[in-house]
Amino acid sequence: MPISRYADPALPSGGLTTSVVAVVTDAVRNGRPVVGYGFSSFGRFAQSGLIRERFAPRLIGTDLEGPAGDLDPFRAWQVMMAGEKPGGHGERCVAVGTLDMALWDAAAKAAGLPLYRQVARSLGVALPVGETIAAYAGGGYYYPHDDGVRLREEIRDFVDRGFTHVKIKIGGASLARDLARIEAALELLPSGAHLAVDAMNAYDAALAGGAAEAFEPYGLWWFEDVCDPLDFETLATVAQRYRHPIAAGEAIFSEAEAKLLDRYGGLRRERDVLLFDPVHCYGLPGFLQIVRTLEGRGWPRSAFWPHGGHAYTSHVVRALGLGGAEVNPRCFAPFGGGVQDWERPGIGFEADPAAIALFQALG
Ligand code: MG
Repeated sequence: MPISRYADPALPSGGLTTSVVAVVTDAVRNGRPVVGYGFSSFGRFAQSGLIRERFAPRLIGTDLEGPAGDLDPFRAWQVMMAGEKPGGHGERCVAVGTLDMALWDAAAKAAGLPLYRQVARSLGVALPVGETIAAYAGGGYYYPHDDGVRLREEIRDFVDRGFTHVKIKIGGASLARDLARIEAALELLPSGAHLAVDAMNAYDAALAGGAAEAFEPYGLWWFEDVCDPLDFETLATVAQRYRHPIAAGEAIFSEAEAKLLDRYGGLRRERDVLLFDPVHCYGLPGFLQIVRTLEGRGWPRSAFWPHGGHAYTSHVVRALGLGGAEVNPRCFAPFGGGVQDWERPGIGFEADPAAIALFQALG
């Protein structure tokens, strides 16, 4: 399905798509089969071919019962990954992650638990103390017309909704125009420490250095996706000179590549931010491998602010006690909002009539 970066879906959004899936199980609750729903998060394109041809057929008709007699997403993950060689991650990780989201939704509904409780239970971990998670509003994409006016209106709306921290896009225009966007956003926020900027991997070495120098005086919350995800040389050079936090990892999808980022990207464990997307990293089992490995290398959980501003990510953040979650209140409808009801079983798509209508249309 098409998915838009804008509140007004009529604005051109680069033809961006996402896949939506429904996993129908033979578990019955309240006289009806348990059905789990998932989608491919945001930012990569839909993965319908891989899902249809390769990964869904491996699941269909397979016994996915775990040791406790429940639907076990970890077992389903082994089934999906059977015969897959290490490396060459491409975007098969997104296809697997899409189905994994639906499997977790189904498992949580079968258990009658909201997703964050189901994840904590299946990992055998105590939930962190606290009733809430930290969250920020992501958005601020370039508008094709009246960019400055519309950006200001968007930031004002985030602030009106109660967000104290906001992220906007840069890197798609001249540095002068991007500095004007930053200045516009800062007019509506208490300080640079409340604003993150996302360069969407656009800069080469020369542009990255110039941008970092220009951003330095603002004391921004973080500077995200500086350069090509695998250009560790440029990232490390920027990290050596730029004093404020850098965020990276959004387009790194495997444990092996996460280790390379940590080893060669020059990131600073006491300051920088890790953006790995739990859907795009082969779903929760793959994401957990990354979290555990980087924790073992000295990263605090508070450094993880996963990409993907939707309810599933918020549940994962809460279950694992991560730093915080992105929420996309105005883009990527109908999936961009945060959690509406933390105690509803599953991810909670049923709380949104537009989302649930899409899934039910799958039959
Ligand atoms: Mg980003």
